[in-house]
Amino acid sequence: MPELPEVETTRRGIAPLVEGKRIASVITRTAGLRWPFPERLDELLAGQTIFTVQRRAKYLLLRCDDGSLILHLGMSGHLRVVPQISPAGRHDHVDLVFADGSCLRFNDPRRFGALLWTADDPLRHPLLAGLGPEPFDAAQNGDYLHRLSRGRKAPVKAFIMDQQVVVGVGNIYASEALFRAGIAPGRAAGRVGLARYRLLSTVIREVLGEAIAAGGTTIRDFSGSDGRPGYFAIQLQVYGRSGKPCPRCGEAICQSRIGQRSTYFCRACQR
Ligand code: ZN
Repeated sequence: MPELPEVETTRRGIAPLVEGKRIASVITRTAGLRWPFPERLDELLAGQTIFTVQRRAKYLLLRCDDGSLILHLGMSGHLRVVPQISPAGRHDHVDLVFADGSCLRFNDPRRFGALLWTADDPLRHPLLAGLGPEPFDAAQNGDYLHRLSRGRKAPVKAFIMDQQVVVGVGNIYASEALFRAGIAPGRAAGRVGLARYRLLSTVIREVLGEAIAAGGTTIRDFSGSDGRPGYFAIQLQVYGRSGKPCPRCGEAICQSRIGQRSTYFCRACQR
């Protein structure tokens, strides 16, 4: 599933290829993905220019003259910019066709993605309005996490994966960040102290920043019909390494389930 680093890489990949381009028409090859496409999408978008591509959590916001397209890649979505005449594949559900003959093509085999339109501020759209701060925002800091977590009995791993707390900390990144911060994933969020939240806040940025940096090598793959950037991962220290030696102390990495998600940690290094 595309996580925040892949979505940010997608943004960086497509932005220079679509910003400033005028939409000539829209081709849809299905009625919708997770939700139906907006009615009269072609009429709505024809003639509008995409002036910027932004990201909020895992949503891409294509800001146009009269409003914004909100895209979500779901479980398997992928965007690329190709000549419109290149043949569409089976899962190429939408083309935003530009006046210059290129198109932004949305491929999504599992169809959990989304393409929505709003004429209002997209950040206030119901899907986005309740989201917590971006991991790289100054508002995502140890004092904030500490304050918000007081009295919470949920495991700290579930707390940092809660999109209303902070966006973008997926399952793999949560395990890795907690290992780097030396915090046991099952510990109650309300029982982690301020100094440890300050460290955790920093390592969340580090882990996601490293994954975005890893994605940088695939940015050129967003143009061209055969390019498909792989989803990439940071050097994993605990995730998926059950029974293997902890890179710090050599004890076997443990696996458990927290909130139905596989969780990996070192009993000796994480308290
Ligand atoms: Zn260890």
